[in-house]
Amino acid sequence: MRTIRTIFTILFSVTLFIVSCDSDSVTEPGENEFSFNHEINPGQSAVDFLTDDNFERLIVQVQYMQGYEPTQEGLNNLETFLRDRLNKSSITIMEPEEIPAAGQSSYTANEIRELEREHRTQFSSENQIAAYFIIVDGEYSDSDVLGIAHFNTSMALFGPKFNEVSSGLGSPSKEDVETIVMRHEFGHILGLVNNGVDMQENHQDTANGRHCDNDQCLMYYAFRNADLFGSIFGGSIPELDENCVADLQAAGGK
Ligand SMILES: [Zn+2]
Ligand SMILES: [Zn+2]
Repeated sequence: MRTIRTIFTILFSVTLFIVSCDSDSVTEPGENEFSFNHEINPGQSAVDFLTDDNFERLIVQVQYMQGYEPTQEGLNNLETFLRDRLNKSSITIMEPEEIPAAGQSSYTANEIRELEREHRTQFSSENQIAAYFIIVDGEYSDSDVLGIAHFNTSMALFGPKFNEVSSGLGSPSKEDVETIVMRHEFGHILGLVNNGVDMQENHQDTANGRHCDNDQCLMYYAFRNADLFGSIFGGSIPELDENCVADLQAAGGK
């Protein structure tokens, strides 16, 4: 199984490379010369999000499968986070749009990417960068997580897991879980931790991938794990710690 996964990972990396070469050369004379590749690795466009060098504005498209509409409070909290960290003159989170339920109990990252290709309609254009959330009606095939970042501008949330984590006595509210997970996944898109922006101090929890070693920080790995979330959640929304903020600021963020 591990070998298969490794081969798959290698194949996918090669595919990504080919896609990236392709789209660099598609501009034809007379066409709009703007080109931006939305299918490279998470974190690779961190500087485009953090600074206003290439894009002054940000738009975020949110699509959900029936039954998994995100709360307005969760989206407002995401917007606050982005306003605090990004050098953008305007940040717009679009009204969430329903897309047809796909009805699978679980989804691989590649299936998520296919769904995005089928449904996403907002892409970056002159002066405006676009980010994308898709909320699906099943779990992640690979691990017990609430969300993933699957391309440089794209994130997926696993709807049933939000209900699971926020139901039951003493559980965090759905709004709080959404706020934390959307901000956490966007943190990966912004290059955290050691995922596209350089670390100013070493604070990577290498045992858990691209995460922060501070268990009070938004980028602590447990905040995206459905089975650990309840035990790590202390009743308030975790912020980015000093190390994570310093990394974003050094790369041009606020
Ligand atoms: Zn994470
Ligand atoms: Zn941190």
